[in-house]
Amino acid sequence: MTKKRPLKLVYKNHPSLLLNECVYCGQHATTIDHIPALTKVQYYPESEKIAVRACSICNSILSNVGLIDISSRVRFLFSKYPIRFKKLLEMPPWDEEELSQLSGKLKLSVMRELKKKRMIENKMIFLQNLLISFTNAIIK
Ligand SMILES: [Zn+2]
Repeated sequence: MTKKRPLKLVYKNHPSLLLNECVYCGQHATTIDHIPALTKVQYYPESEKIAVRACSICNSILSNVGLIDISSRVRFLFSKYPIRFKKLLEMPPWDEEELSQLSGKLKLSVMRELKKKRMIENKMIFLQNLLISFTNAIIK
């Protein structure tokens, strides 16, 4: 009888696993993204299976997406972030004077949302820069 190999062992480790950064958005990574998704692994040859470091947001957006190359996944994320975080991204900017007129829980809540908005915007900038670098690599 042959012993079945644990599923995760068929994934090759990507160099990003040595870092704590999300391979897609560059921010702190707390999860491992399996490419292709664990649920679809049987449909792909072994050579195409890789594991990369990812943040929980990128990983959850990608969840069962059938894209197997990193540039396609980056493009997918870049198209999904504005939809997933539409409300947050549409939040108006607040200047210091406006913020100083708030107090208590309302001020904390607005500041927390502004921080979250900045984090999402930074992720999107990183994704966009990656897309540009992929495009430049193809042109060269
Ligand atoms: Zn990420």
